[in-house]
Amino acid sequence: MKAVQVTGPHQLQIIEKEKPVITDGHEVLVKVKMVGICGSDMHIYHGTNPLATLPRIIGHEVTGEVEAVGQDVTNLAIGDKVVIEPIETCGHCYACRSGRRNVCAELEVFGVHRDGGMQEYLVMPEKLVHKVDSALDWTESVLVEPFTIGAQANWRGDVRNGDVVLVMGAGPIGLCCLKVAKTKGATVIISDLSDDRLEFAKAWGADYTINAWNSNVNEEVMAITKNEGANVVIDAVCIPKTFEDAIEVASVAGRVVVLGFDTKTSNIPQLPITKKEVTIVGSRLQTDQFPEIINLFNNKIIETKGMVTQQFPLEQIKEAISLIENDPNEVRKVVLSFD
Ligand code: MN
Ligand code: ZN
Repeated sequence: MKAVQVTGPHQLQIIEKEKPVITDGHEVLVKVKMVGICGSDMHIYHGTNPLATLPRIIGHEVTGEVEAVGQDVTNLAIGDKVVIEPIETCGHCYACRSGRRNVCAELEVFGVHRDGGMQEYLVMPEKLVHKVDSALDWTESVLVEPFTIGAQANWRGDVRNGDVVLVMGAGPIGLCCLKVAKTKGATVIISDLSDDRLEFAKAWGADYTINAWNSNVNEEVMAITKNEGANVVIDAVCIPKTFEDAIEVASVAGRVVVLGFDTKTSNIPQLPITKKEVTIVGSRLQTDQFPEIINLFNNKIIETKGMVTQQFPLEQIKEAISLIENDPNEVRKVVLSFD
């Protein structure tokens, strides 16, 4: 079978490998149907993900069909439409004991530390395989994983009914944060540098859009909120300046959610944090968000039309990558489809 393997910076090829087999009673063999290409896959390809180990089969946004189950599997059956939860954890470190296994001390992410989904078949432990409604299109189920990231950011930011949420950045993760915040009854303001992205965000439910290129986001947010500020700020731009702005524009008792991997420092004074008693939280991957997101998808409470902009067969992974690199404004989520 075929797989997409990264062996070094800008070194990517389609390899032939043995089809995996079930060796444990609790494992499931999944025939991969669609895999989303994520910014973090691009970082591994560019050699700018310090966490990734090589060679690596990339891809962590995976949907497919159960082809076989181990003898002890009870919750899944052959033919089920499924999505993969791409994290494996130790189960006994402080994070795992605290219900925060997404930041496990020995965390391994499929597609980063272990081989991921850009291959025709995967064997996974059943606990990491979640069934979705068979009525969902593959272009919907492939988005469950990125939406769990949005759900995690909303959970970490404690988004509540009636809150005003500022989402900085209208890329795929910002859009997922937006949709989840709307399901919680929040008013959502979203900012970006691209009018096209903002127009799409508006169609996806944003109450207000702000173009950060030609206006001051914080001033606009203050005007919209009658000087209260945003109760929750989710920074999906992730540069030192947006973190600074987020602290400034947060309301009293507000929350700031940090998603970035930037190692450059921001310049943040203590006063606004203390004075407003702002809570600053990191949000990484997700914990236990798959059931909630799958429920929202199955019941059509979250509709994702328009997110997947292009599909490529596995063999054209290089064309897909060059489209993402060369025409970033033409793409939201690019996916690889199998068969
Ligand atoms: Mn992703
Ligand atoms: Zn752990």
